[in-house]
Amino acid sequence: MLQQLLQQANFLALTLANPVSMAAEQAVIAGHTRVELWDSGVLVFTPLHTEATRDIVLSSGIHGNETAPIELCNQLIQAIVSQNLLLQQRVMFIFGNPPTINNHTRFVSENLNRLFNGEHANPHVASNGERLRAARLEAYVERFFMAADRQRLHYDLHTAIRASRHERFAVCPYRPDKPHLKQQLAFLNAAGVEAFLMHHEPTTTFSYASSTKYQAEAFTVELGKVMPFGQNDLTKLAAMRQMLVVLLSEREFPRVTYQPDKLVLYRVCRSLNKHYADFAFNFSNELPNFTQFAKGELLAQEQGIAITAAQDGEAIVFPNAQIPVGQRAALCVVADPAIPLA
Ligand SMILES: [Zn+2]
Repeated sequence: MLQQLLQQANFLALTLANPVSMAAEQAVIAGHTRVELWDSGVLVFTPLHTEATRDIVLSSGIHGNETAPIELCNQLIQAIVSQNLLLQQRVMFIFGNPPTINNHTRFVSENLNRLFNGEHANPHVASNGERLRAARLEAYVERFFMAADRQRLHYDLHTAIRASRHERFAVCPYRPDKPHLKQQLAFLNAAGVEAFLMHHEPTTTFSYASSTKYQAEAFTVELGKVMPFGQNDLTKLAAMRQMLVVLLSEREFPRVTYQPDKLVLYRVCRSLNKHYADFAFNFSNELPNFTQFAKGELLAQEQGIAITAAQDGEAIVFPNAQIPVGQRAALCVVADPAIPLA
């Protein structure tokens, strides 16, 4: 398998041909970079001629139909394998849910990005492909991060189901004891991320698990709207690609200045949870993420009970009524330039 990767430099094709599992293998590229295949969609590169200063996880395809970040990561892997990108840092690439990439769907049995931080082992829910995959991905991330005590970074790359008033935005995991870093926000901002949403509670997302378990600087990064393979305009991700190349190929963290006038900070004020099967939003499926409402405007209803905007400027992100009862149907956020950063 690894020989095929080294010859053809297409890890995505190899992954999709072996979507459930692949035997571990390793090799060295031209004496300078070790490449380790850990499983289907899981690949680790370690530079051998330098002591890396950070361990970086770049995950994509946690939802199989979110193809732009998968293509971006496959290009980065191709550049490393073909020696056009020489690493100074250790990096793990993850294509999260290969069977769903083959199916062109968000998931097979359930949303993989609700199964991390141990939720995959919930004894009250029957196991399935996503639960097994979440358990394995958590174990791989642990093995990757715990190998050394370096700065840990995890960018979990997605695209959103609907359009957004901010084309690219990031979700910053809840970490009450430590403000998020201006350095990280400036880096993502230089990569084209326009808005940052500070989460208000623990979750079971991939980025939250890396943040809380390994103190990684971890983010869920939304890079535009879902499109099928071949229909992505990757020029829109040129800045992201460029910043990731610098991150991987230089010893120092990319030097960028935090510019508060170039981004918007949002605070999550509440989650709207679906309590009954008839939960429905009062706006169209085309409503972009971050659309603002006036206080008292009707947002949704269930069982004849109205759910209204609690304050002026309250905006809705990730609305999705087609989820199981008990799950989050949307996040409500407000812009808040006074969020503390370090
Ligand atoms: Zn996603």
